[in-house]
Amino acid sequence: MYDVIVVGTGFGGMTASALLAKKGYRTLSIEAASELGGCAGKFERQSFRFQAGATLGMGFEEGGVFSQLFHELDISPPPVHLLDTIMDVHFSERTIRYYQQKERWFDEIARQFPKDSAAIVRFFEEMFSLADAMLSFVYKRPIVPPKTIKQLFQAMQKADSKLISATPFLFQSIAKRLQHYGIRDETFIAFLNGQLVDSVQTTIERCPALLGAVALSIFHRGAFYVEGGLANVVHALAERYKQLGGEQRMREKVVSIRKQRHWLVTTNRKQTYEAKHVVFNGSLHSIFSILDDSIKRIFSIREEKEKKRPAWGAFTIYIGADDDLQTDSLYHQFIVNQTKPMSEGNQFLLSASAPFDRQMAPIGKRSITISTHTEPLHWWDRHAYDEQKKMLTEQILQRVNKTFPLTNIHVQLVGTPVTFSRFTHRAFGKVGGYIPNGVFSLLSTYSPQTNVEGLWLCGDTVFPGAGSLGCALSGWIVADGISASK
Ligand SMILES: Cc1cc2nc3c(=O)[nH]c(=O)nc-3n(C[C@H](O)[C@H](O)[C@H](O)COP(=O)(O)OP(=O)(O)OC[C@H]3O[C@@H](n4cnc5c(N)ncnc54)[C@H](O)[C@@H]3O)c2cc1C
Repeated sequence: MYDVIVVGTGFGGMTASALLAKKGYRTLSIEAASELGGCAGKFERQSFRFQAGATLGMGFEEGGVFSQLFHELDISPPPVHLLDTIMDVHFSERTIRYYQQKERWFDEIARQFPKDSAAIVRFFEEMFSLADAMLSFVYKRPIVPPKTIKQLFQAMQKADSKLISATPFLFQSIAKRLQHYGIRDETFIAFLNGQLVDSVQTTIERCPALLGAVALSIFHRGAFYVEGGLANVVHALAERYKQLGGEQRMREKVVSIRKQRHWLVTTNRKQTYEAKHVVFNGSLHSIFSILDDSIKRIFSIREEKEKKRPAWGAFTIYIGADDDLQTDSLYHQFIVNQTKPMSEGNQFLLSASAPFDRQMAPIGKRSITISTHTEPLHWWDRHAYDEQKKMLTEQILQRVNKTFPLTNIHVQLVGTPVTFSRFTHRAFGKVGGYIPNGVFSLLSTYSPQTNVEGLWLCGDTVFPGAGSLGCALSGWIVADGISASK
């Protein structure tokens, strides 16, 4: 019997597995896919490596989540490079260079928005200080929302005076803060919408100020290019996990989770494993098809309610091409029409491998991942699928070619929510956690500790939310929780 079974090797699951193995728990990690990393995984075609979803690293600065995590596990992170330019944001008429260093970013604001620059800088200063308050709390890994009086008390102990002074902002939106500063510049607002959709899945009206503050600040703490791709971080965790005695089964899909005296986890290979705790790192969208009815009956997260919570899908294009990109920036966001929604190819992110990165592409070539948000449920009509895929691909590549004419393409592949569902086992290909639906959305967060004893959740559908950093923290919270429940 195992102490813990961790289902899934995304950022959440692999973090939990490695930390639990370090704490001496007999741990089994089970992954349905042939690759580690889920949405932050990789795949290879010809001589190129492609990042399936996540490309932009964060949390590797001193004191950042990954620096702390690798220190905790006594290993070094894979080589990462601090970016000077987080990304270039291309509008139809101009390009804004989003600098990592605050001072350089404020100079760019003065250049791009001379009329509003003082107000915009004050707005960013406020975002940075709200993010400090939020992150100093979240980095202490509270169990949120608390399930017991003890957890409530522990969470309160972790809240410092900075967080308390941020409470007036709790139920305000980013739009409200912009109003406060009298900022109305449409291009600046489109810039914010692009950034917010990319990191927290929503735009200024529906984005809680505290969440938006973290999204608009996190890269100014450190934005990183990870050599060989973000999947290398997951691989480093997996390697350490195995060194510490952790067991791993790949290409084995969990098809049922039930409980008798202990937890019983059955896979498609007709294996049943027994454990005291189960950590589910698949998305919550997918748990209901696996949980036994007796657990579903007492599970506080209701299937019908969860299904109604909106989430995005991802449409991706992977290109292996000659290095024609005449730019020193590795990340490029395109906002085609700033008055239209930031999805379905109207806003997309192009991430290119660094010219020196031999793990990603041969000399003189680049591996490119392009991704846009899409409505996942629109991709399940078989008749419309091919046409929809063709049109969106053409639309995106047309815009890319205006800025970066790619002459010699060696590999081109496309991913849709159907592809993501197949390779990451997320129902309907829903990715990136939930879309915040307004200022109260922080209150509807799900906790990594469920109400069912011994059943834990980690990944982007639970606190603290999406992104490699948030998911790693959720895995860490689970590892803390399991060791505290001894
Ligand atoms: C297109 C795109 C771009 C993104 N860009 C960035 C970025 O630049 N930077 C960033 O930090 N984040 C980014 N993100 C977000 C980030 O990738 C995710 O939030 C994060 O990787 C999700 O991790 P997770 O722990 O939730 O697990 P997931 O990635 O969902 O992985 C879960 C794993 O569990 C496995 N699994 C599921 N069910 C089962 C089962 N029944 N049995 C066995 N195994 C199972 C899956 O196969 C999968 O490997 C992006 C996401 C997408 C989709």
